[in-house]
Amino acid sequence: MEYYSKTKEAVLMDVGSFENGLPSAESELRLAQNGKNRIEEGKKTTLFQRILAQISDPMVIVLIVAAVVSGITSLLSAEGDLADVFIILFVVVLNTTLGVIQESKAEAAIEALKEMTAATSKVFRDGRLVHVRSEDLVVGDVVLLEAGDAVPADGRLIECVSLKVEEAALTGESVPVEKTDAALDPALGEVSLGDRINMVYMGSVVVYGRGRMVVTSSGMNTEMGKIAKAITNAAEQKTPLQQKLAQLSRTLTFLVLGICAVMFGVSVARHGIAFESILGSFMLAVSLAVAAIPEGLVAVVTIVLSIGVTKMSKRNAIIRKLTAVETLGCTMVICSDKTGTLTQNKMTVVEYSGSDERLLATSLALCSDAELDENNRATGDPTQAAVVDYAYRQGLPKPELAGKYPRVAEIPFDSGRKLMTTLHKKPGGGYIQHTTGAPDVLIYKCDRYFENGQVFPMTDEKRDFFFAENRRLAGKALRVLAAGYREYDEAPEKLTAEYESELVFLGLVGMMDPVREEVPAAIESCRSAGIRPIMITGDHRDTAVAIALQLGIISDPSEAITGVELDKISDEEFQHNVEHYGVYARVKPEHKTRIVNAWRARGAITAMTGDGVNDAPSIKNADIGIGMGITGTDVTKNVADMILADDNFATIIAAVEEGRRIYDNIRKSI
Ligand code: ADP
Ligand code: MG
Repeated sequence: MEYYSKTKEAVLMDVGSFENGLPSAESELRLAQNGKNRIEEGKKTTLFQRILAQISDPMVIVLIVAAVVSGITSLLSAEGDLADVFIILFVVVLNTTLGVIQESKAEAAIEALKEMTAATSKVFRDGRLVHVRSEDLVVGDVVLLEAGDAVPADGRLIECVSLKVEEAALTGESVPVEKTDAALDPALGEVSLGDRINMVYMGSVVVYGRGRMVVTSSGMNTEMGKIAKAITNAAEQKTPLQQKLAQLSRTLTFLVLGICAVMFGVSVARHGIAFESILGSFMLAVSLAVAAIPEGLVAVVTIVLSIGVTKMSKRNAIIRKLTAVETLGCTMVICSDKTGTLTQNKMTVVEYSGSDERLLATSLALCSDAELDENNRATGDPTQAAVVDYAYRQGLPKPELAGKYPRVAEIPFDSGRKLMTTLHKKPGGGYIQHTTGAPDVLIYKCDRYFENGQVFPMTDEKRDFFFAENRRLAGKALRVLAAGYREYDEAPEKLTAEYESELVFLGLVGMMDPVREEVPAAIESCRSAGIRPIMITGDHRDTAVAIALQLGIISDPSEAITGVELDKISDEEFQHNVEHYGVYARVKPEHKTRIVNAWRARGAITAMTGDGVNDAPSIKNADIGIGMGITGTDVTKNVADMILADDNFATIIAAVEEGRRIYDNIRKSI
């Protein structure tokens, strides 16, 4: 029976694993036995092939012909001298050796890049969640999958929370598939790949929700591996500059050869067709050709680019495509996320608004995926960790709360809805739902509010008051989160976004997220280099404006616009005014693509950062797509041209400066 027809217990048994993962000793053993989890690349070029490639260069062929002719003539003539032959051969050998060395160096640099951007997975080993390189996954490993993760191997799902996976790479179907952890009916028999809804496959991407899979096949045994066997890998891409140079040097070569032929003809015409003079004319033409053909041009550019890439990586900017180095040097606009890139993404709840702080903290902590570690520090997404830490400071440790109110269902947070919801069993019977999220979304979902131990129907006055409180906190550069709840006698059959309504409003908390120390200086050098910094955030306008003013990104609040306002203006109008806006607040990921397009329509080379799954289209669309090394999802990293190892805005500026230097160097050497 296939894995998809079996129960998850049976699958775990089959692959010799457990609900909470393999012991690490066992995984090491399996790795040694069965090999790495990777798709083997096509065969590498051998040394001989490389030498051959060098020798087939037109200039080298000219030289070899010259050596042969010169050798034959000196053997034929009595006082023959082989010095010329040796000199020419020496040049050929030297050129070939240098060429091979340069090429191997460039290749090593590219290999090193691949190494730096190697994918990692979240795996349960010895019952604990650890990050390992996806290469080191083995059959039986239990892997955590979250929105934005690339599926690292083939596996059977053993837990599934609103998990949606996009499998276009395998099935061609671009609509994400909703997954389940239940066994398929064995009576269905053989089921096609696209319908195996309890399996996930390497090369697909989690776009929503979360889940756990147990690896059932890895490396070349995966579906992807089977396909890859049939495909020979594509050649390494050249940058536009490299392409242009290759073209140029080919044209020059033929031009030079043409001129040499003419020279040869003229020389022969002048000196007659005696054997000696023909030979003399020929050698003259050849030496001219050797001197004039720009053989090193392309190699020089590759070397300069790869040296630059290595330099940048030392400054935490990891270039994934050589092309990016050139483009970086010409960047004119940098659109950056606020949270984590301009700020530290270390959130702390510093203020609240509501009538019962403990109830507020309880609701927020229950509706969070962050946990307390053994030292009572909150771990997880910074926003979610902040509320768990907040509750802990109120004497409400998360494990205790979660023990009392076990979670039975959830709707994960996403930047589109800007809400998160969890459903919990109450100790005395019945269920309670907690919903948290952006206040200006959540307040509209509340038809009642909680005050001094009582629940009252919502009034316009009260609603306005809560909005005013939101603005008061946001105006202090705080990130504001609202909480509400709803009770049920019977749990809803399936918890959907429709249940994020009829809530009882509990209150607001404001979190401080300090700006990164290096950023103000980076913004300044950005400006003096003539580059425009732009802030993009899902946060409230007032929060964004307060921080942007502090950082010098804008000088007046009128330079900010919200996603809702952006929706109201036409593309033409937006393109016309795009230079006016320095801050985009309460945007959804889709807006980012519009922003990039507007700038590009004005001819500006635009860089765009992003971390979430939904940021992938805008990163792809930008001239320079920038992924985040720490908080970024696989999806965004895979489409990015550059990855910031430290998620830091200052790193972008450093990379742009380096890019400009490299560009200048190349121009000079040409
Ligand atoms: P960004 O990360 O760019 O600041 P997001 O779209 O992630 O923007 O967040 C927008 C708003 O959604 C935040 O201001 C906050 O109010 C709310 N929010 C963010 N993360 C969570 C979460 N995990 N749970 C509930 N609400 C959240
Ligand atoms: Mg976010």
